[in-house]
Amino acid sequence: MDSARVFASVRGAEPGPTLIVVASIHGNEPAGAVAASRVAATLREESVRGSFVAITGNVAASSRRVRCVHHDLNRAFLPDPVAAARRGEAPAGLGAEGAELRGLVRALDDARAAARGPVFLLDLHSTSGDGAPFLLLPTSGGARLASAVPLTAVSGLLGMLRGTMVEEFRGEFDGALVAECGSHGSSAAPDCAEAVIRCVLAETGIAPPDPDAPRRLESFRGALPASLAVAYRHAIAPADRFAMRPGWRHFDPVTAGTPVADDARGPVLAPVTGRMLLPLYQPVGDDGFFVAIG
Ligand SMILES: [Zn+2]
Repeated sequence: MDSARVFASVRGAEPGPTLIVVASIHGNEPAGAVAASRVAATLREESVRGSFVAITGNVAASSRRVRCVHHDLNRAFLPDPVAAARRGEAPAGLGAEGAELRGLVRALDDARAAARGPVFLLDLHSTSGDGAPFLLLPTSGGARLASAVPLTAVSGLLGMLRGTMVEEFRGEFDGALVAECGSHGSSAAPDCAEAVIRCVLAETGIAPPDPDAPRRLESFRGALPASLAVAYRHAIAPADRFAMRPGWRHFDPVTAGTPVADDARGPVLAPVTGRMLLPLYQPVGDDGFFVAIG
């Protein structure tokens, strides 16, 4: 076991499902690791049915507290780099993230090989913009876990991106889900991530339910809808000099034609009416913002 990467592991006395939590696949998002460590500290081998495994996604970026060192690891899960990683090679062209991809794929494969039942994958993130936490569903295999987590479930977004871990690996697991747990560094983000983990552990039967966890998530969700679908992705490149206008939060209503950002060509208008999602307030990323509709 790669102990730098696998930071918590509880193997229950009784066989059963395995939940793999990946935290900090973006190194500037520590909330998931805090939450998974807290949960692991409360789990006892005699009361766990199956296994709980917590893995650091990007070790090098986490130690520097940056999103990535050279390449976004959560866009690197493409067939050729993954095949190279499974041959034990650090895939070319990814810089420091080549070794990270190899290490993360190996940790996931090791956890699956050690499993004694169905295996579920939960990928924990936080966001550069403010607003309520939410879930991102892969194009298949996300519904069961999402049904147990009372946050707004957003579909369609992962299918618009290339190379995300959960979307590309969804077929290798019995269920997979992404949780965006609030803004980077907010004190609520680890609490949200912890409640998400506890809801998933209960749904999969690995640990007894914590009745407080769904209540806490419902209070985060407030009056937001149970589900939304992404209708628009604003892709950006460095030459665009994209800059989000200040003040946008996740789920803010937005009307078609509203200027929401600026780039080298002038104002950037929202092309559809819906709700703002993932407005980019950090200098790196390929996605300026998304618009979701109910
Ligand atoms: Zn992230």
